[in-house]
Amino acid sequence: MLNFVLFGPPGAGKGTQSEKLIEKYQLIHISTGDLFRAHIKNQSPLGQRVSALIAEGQLVPDEITIAMLEEEVDKNPGAKGFIFDGFPRTVPQAQALDEFLESKGSSIAGVIALDVDQEELTKRIAQRQLETGRVDDQADKLQKRIEEYFSKTIHVLPYYEAQQKLSKVNGIGKIDDIFADLSAVIDKY
Ligand code: ADP
Repeated sequence: MLNFVLFGPPGAGKGTQSEKLIEKYQLIHISTGDLFRAHIKNQSPLGQRVSALIAEGQLVPDEITIAMLEEEVDKNPGAKGFIFDGFPRTVPQAQALDEFLESKGSSIAGVIALDVDQEELTKRIAQRQLETGRVDDQADKLQKRIEEYFSKTIHVLPYYEAQQKLSKVNGIGKIDDIFADLSAVIDKY
């Protein structure tokens, strides 16, 4: 299996680029944010547990997130590989993912971090809030998400850097140009 993590702060364009990548490389896209939103929409027991946290811009506890992710991977036994989007967001999640994949004789091939500055992120999310009405895109909730990113998620980068798996791609510019840069990284594997 060829597994990649697409990494970046809220609004970096992970969802947009993932859609293009799965089409080109026939990988399975797992976005923990999308999975949580589907649970909330369906009012599943899991959705009911996490909806308030997500609406406030806080991270969902690791145990819940890891269990959901592993279940989703197990739903796709014949997959050529996965693109993990929005996961791992903490170092314990990254460690759990490594152990889980290892138990299947697999691993993370590479981690691609989309680099976008704060000013651009704020602009994009304000626009997305207008278009989708996502509650966690509202300014005060977004502030909390950015705090969570800089206090917890950012530490995932050195974790993968130490494994020499990290590549950075400029996430500002035309969608197709960013996609070409991402593809160039993936094509090296
Ligand atoms: P973003 O647009 O900020 O990248 P996502 O759509 O990926 O956000 O996720 C939305 C929310 O879902 C997060 O703010 C968080 O509450 C929750 N969430 C998603 N992935 C994770 C994760 N790996 N660990 C904990 N919480 C998560």
